[in-house]
Amino acid sequence: MRQIDHFIVGHSGGGAARSGDVFDPNTGQIQAQVALGTQADLDRAIAAAQAAQPGWAATNPQRRARVMFNFKALVEQNMEELAHLLSSEHGKVIADAKGDIQRGLEVIEFCCGIPHVLKGEYTQGAGPGIDVYSMRQPLGIGAGITPFNFPGMIPLWMSGVAIATGNAFILKPSERDPSVPVRLAELFLEAGLPEGILQVVQGDKEMVDAILDHPAISAVSFVGSSDIAHYVYKRGVAAGKRVQAMGGAKNHGIVMPDADLDQVVADLSGAAFGSAGERCMALPVVVPVGEKTAIALREKLIPAIAALRVGVSTDSDAHYGPVVNAAHKQRVENWIQTGVDEGAELVVDGRGFELQGHEKGFFIGPSLFDHVTPQMESYKEEIFGPVLQIVRADDFEHAVRLPSEHQYGNGVAIFTRNGHAAREFASRVNVGMVGINVPIPVPVAYHTFGGWKRSAFGDTNQHGMEGVKFWTKVKTITQRWPDGSPDGGNAFVIPTMG
Ligand code: NAD
Repeated sequence: MRQIDHFIVGHSGGGAARSGDVFDPNTGQIQAQVALGTQADLDRAIAAAQAAQPGWAATNPQRRARVMFNFKALVEQNMEELAHLLSSEHGKVIADAKGDIQRGLEVIEFCCGIPHVLKGEYTQGAGPGIDVYSMRQPLGIGAGITPFNFPGMIPLWMSGVAIATGNAFILKPSERDPSVPVRLAELFLEAGLPEGILQVVQGDKEMVDAILDHPAISAVSFVGSSDIAHYVYKRGVAAGKRVQAMGGAKNHGIVMPDADLDQVVADLSGAAFGSAGERCMALPVVVPVGEKTAIALREKLIPAIAALRVGVSTDSDAHYGPVVNAAHKQRVENWIQTGVDEGAELVVDGRGFELQGHEKGFFIGPSLFDHVTPQMESYKEEIFGPVLQIVRADDFEHAVRLPSEHQYGNGVAIFTRNGHAAREFASRVNVGMVGINVPIPVPVAYHTFGGWKRSAFGDTNQHGMEGVKFWTKVKTITQRWPDGSPDGGNAFVIPTMG
């Protein structure tokens, strides 16, 4: 059985008393065992990070950026291998696995310009003979705790910016698909990153708690489900750390009566069912505005859903593959049953789907619900599977209210040809990331990613300048070089610029 280990002090190993199963979601079989580490493993990583970080922080930013350039080239050379590895543990199709890695690589491209963004501010002559300037300095050691659904992109969101700004970074990836993060750490080393600057500790709650309590870790970045995000936020902050904790989502797609419905259906199919719905920026709720729009949309959605091809993740014709494990499959199917019990109309039922030759794989067919209402639990909670829910809205105002009042506020999209309606919607909706005729509005790497309400705890987004702010602290220097002549001031009065 293949063992997936920590990556500490520049090499894989260390083992653990406990281990977890890593499945092949296509077959339902266990394909590897992942180490579930302890405080002692974390301590080894911390010691290496403490030894390496001062030297890395003192390395000039252009040299740090060159490691990013080298790493980008290495990931591109190894893209096929990385995508297959990712897909074999997660279950997303190969093209989508490449997208997962590529979106992470785009953050690395941003980091290639780190010397430019780390330039501080400077005011000459802020007072008589006085200049004021600021600099951004690394925090020291940071940690990242990541979810299963983007094992390439999310570790790179965090590690890229943390490292480029001069920190050492310790990653605790999801125990469900832990191989790609280890491979990325190996490639970073090959790219010239010193040992101890990027390390991977494997584990579950025990390792997460060790990270949250460790006094040597200054900042924790978390992405996962909302209850855990809230827990991580509270415990990390109580230990005096800087914490950003992104949580779950329930993104709505508003369809205005003037929208191009064929385009909407094409966009929705990918956004609701791509990656088996296991995306925090998926669109699992569609809100047609007005009865006519609802009827027309439903009519077009049914054949589009029937045409979806569910297959093994290496099938290049498959639109999506299996979900990540049996427990998650069961959870999604339970939500479908809850929807039925609550009185929603199950128009297409994806349960009971079996792929010939892969009967034990974690496959779920696409499902469509109509007449879902805001009172239903299956609407309030995140399903995170290939399930699309239609919630009918009477008018534009009603449509703005639905995502605005939902507990999650990650992403939202509006489909319309009316610029005024789109502009109003973007300005008023109580959600962090908005798409206008863009179904999955994940911002590009040099902007920043982050939701509102229970989709994010803390006040700083991922990557872009917000990421740089999260991983650095500002030092402001006020300097004076007296020329020797007496200044006649009163040293006992607070200096003012009056
Ligand atoms: P999860 O919350 O189960 O796990 C996330 C991380 O927390 C993992 O590393 C896991 O080991 C750890 N963890 C799990 N249980 C824990 C516990 N009891 N105590 C401490 N740590 C624990 O999330 P997941 O199932 O891996 O990922 C899917 C979730 O992540 C969805 O809710 C999805 O919306 C969310 N997500 C959010 C974003 C975002 O940016 N907002 C992006 C991707 C995924």
